[in-house]
Amino acid sequence: MAEGVYDVVVLGAGPAGLTAAIYAGRARLDTVVIDHGVPGGQVATTDMVENYPGFPQGVSGAELAGLMNEQAERFGARIEMAEVEGLAREGDLWRVDTSEGPYRARAVIVATGTRPRELGVPGEKEFRGRGISYCATCDGAFFRDKPVVVVGGGDSAVTEAEFLTRFASHVTIVHRRDQLRAARSLQERVLDNPKINVRWNAVVTSFLGEDRLQRVRLRDVKTGTESEVEAEGAFIYVGLLPNTSFLNGVVPLDEGGYLVTDEAMALPVPGLFAAGDVRRKRLRQVATAVGDGAVAAMAAEEYIVGKFGREPVKTQ
Ligand code: NAP
Repeated sequence: MAEGVYDVVVLGAGPAGLTAAIYAGRARLDTVVIDHGVPGGQVATTDMVENYPGFPQGVSGAELAGLMNEQAERFGARIEMAEVEGLAREGDLWRVDTSEGPYRARAVIVATGTRPRELGVPGEKEFRGRGISYCATCDGAFFRDKPVVVVGGGDSAVTEAEFLTRFASHVTIVHRRDQLRAARSLQERVLDNPKINVRWNAVVTSFLGEDRLQRVRLRDVKTGTESEVEAEGAFIYVGLLPNTSFLNGVVPLDEGGYLVTDEAMALPVPGLFAAGDVRRKRLRQVATAVGDGAVAAMAAEEYIVGKFGREPVKTQ
């Protein structure tokens, strides 16, 4: 961590944050990106991204994230690892409190994304890491030739169910309705896949086993009938929650905890912007996150020039 004041501190090194850093770097703003883990955000743990323009055969999420990181660094942004703990106004500046100490900046771009929502049923906590996972790319290979369950019916559940067929003997998707939410092209692929079946109108009531997960108990929401599916792995994809708890009253959140920006990605406090999945928005994709990041960086530059003049600050 550098002493002094940055022009821009970007919170989160996913596609939105890294794009903001590319644009801020190119605008010659002194920029640091802070993330608690390996740069790339959720896309870094996505096996294949098939809908990001420019990659007609798809691109591995890890590769795409790595390229974005390299590009941000090429334009002068620093990427540092720390847990963001809080944010406070200090005169005309923002102070970002982190596990590695405070950072000070003229503008802050919040691009902290989302995290997986938990189901909240008995056994979920006990078997986490012992059969239950929220990341098929990270843990799928542990379930070679074993039956697994995927919970959810959105893009994540369906994409990851298909990915898991590489390893698992069989994949059962458990979905609470009689229709998937996922994009049509993804739905067609899983419904045609002989290694995947869908338990429609079913919810998980508990995860069961001894030391490790062995069975998933289901309830048919139409008939109330209970049944069990053998599964050594369960991958839960029932939606996302925004990573905004560190903001703690600094800026209003919507009812789901998301940040509400204007068209320039500005939040209703000076010098604070948001980009990517952490925003209230219609479509959470890499393609929309990078657009947000570009706009947020441009808006931050305009804010900095308007408030502080053209001279960039020096961190050293
Ligand atoms: P999502 O779209 O919010 O879908 C969550 C799924 O979980 C829904 O099918 C929902 O059922 C189900 N669900 C929610 N709460 C539940 C509960 N308590 N019990 C059982 N089921 C529950 O989440 P996501 O699939 O993680 O996607 C999040 C965002 O990332 C979306 O914007 C998505 O488009 C994007 N994404 C895109 C791609 C891609 O383009 N390839 C890949 C991954 C993610 P209902 O359908 O009944 O509501």
